[in-house]
Amino acid sequence: MTERMTVPSWLDLPADSGFGIDNLPYGVFSTPGTAPRTGVAVGDSVLDLAAATGDDVHATGSLNAFLAQGPAAWQELRARLTGWLTDDGHRGDVEPHLVPRADVTMHLPVEVADYVDFYSSRHHAENLGRMFRPDSEPLTPNWTHLPIGYHGRAGTVAVSGTPVLRPSGQRKAPSDPAPTFGPSQRLDIEAEIGFVVGTPSELGRPVPLNAFPEHVFGVCLVNDWSARDLQSWEYVPLGPFLGKSFLTSVSPWVVPLAALEAARVSPPARDPRPLPYLDDTGAAPWGLDIAIEVRLNDEVVSRPPFDLMYWTPAQQLAHMTVNGASLRTGDLYASGTVSGPGKDQRGSFIELSWGGTEPVRLADGSTRTFLEDGDVVTLTATARGSGGSRISLGEVTGRIEPAAAP
Ligand code: MN
Repeated sequence: MTERMTVPSWLDLPADSGFGIDNLPYGVFSTPGTAPRTGVAVGDSVLDLAAATGDDVHATGSLNAFLAQGPAAWQELRARLTGWLTDDGHRGDVEPHLVPRADVTMHLPVEVADYVDFYSSRHHAENLGRMFRPDSEPLTPNWTHLPIGYHGRAGTVAVSGTPVLRPSGQRKAPSDPAPTFGPSQRLDIEAEIGFVVGTPSELGRPVPLNAFPEHVFGVCLVNDWSARDLQSWEYVPLGPFLGKSFLTSVSPWVVPLAALEAARVSPPARDPRPLPYLDDTGAAPWGLDIAIEVRLNDEVVSRPPFDLMYWTPAQQLAHMTVNGASLRTGDLYASGTVSGPGKDQRGSFIELSWGGTEPVRLADGSTRTFLEDGDVVTLTATARGSGGSRISLGEVTGRIEPAAAP
């Protein structure tokens, strides 16, 4: 007998679907010959929200108009959808608007306003510090006092499945006498969780820690593709630039924060205690127990644990706005590469292969340091749902294509 969802539904939802009633993530989809519109994933289907609600806000081709309506509207629609999908009396009205997920094309869910990427995994930061600055402390002195981040390129955030064209650029190893130009030879991934802002904020008004759920609508998976050879030559003193901006991939389904209530956990202890605007001691914590898997050509190579992240997304948001910088609907900020203490918990190949010195051995006997043309990298993730089974964040995938001809 197949185990059923704790939350009953007239839809036939197996317990392990990952897209049960306790998830209900939002995305933008189309079918052949139709315009992109908002849908909600449930089981193996997409509920066409534009058709089912008749509300134009869901027919715009991005989630932004809905996200801008704010938390009361998000909660109202989630409650309405839950009623529709669990109460048999709505079946006749709702069922005609279900489209098989196998038949849809997914689009970028959000028109991305600003994009920020953080660096909030202690294990990742220590690993990189040991590799790049072997003669000094692995963490820079500021790391335990503030969530370090940089502003990325919003216009090159793309939906899962977008081909990853190998970037070209300047690279120079420390031993090289001069830089050379050509395709990146150290193309890498960064497994991250992304946070999507719905409610904007006013210029000059910092967003405090406790306002996080009023502004952030939901989460997605992010692969922050990184060309390590370009990055290491260009990043001093102003930080990541062309080694990152060629492409950032996101998963098509945005899981509402409301679906992650059961996944909230305490973050690791902070030492030293953060300054007051970042101090979440005694507050309901916004650590999230999300289990990520990294697959290279269908083989799991890593399982990064998100619950060990040092800075929470609420602290990242508070820090990002503490100088008065405002938020816009569609802002996306990512956690930073998620790495755990184990060798099989590292969220990038530069860590998995320790800077290329310890190649990763794959099941077929081949090895990898950095990505080769034709490689496919897929990130998936799950978290505890309120119904008792695990909810899925879906996947973000990309295939490495050869560099463009010069
Ligand atoms: Mn990153």
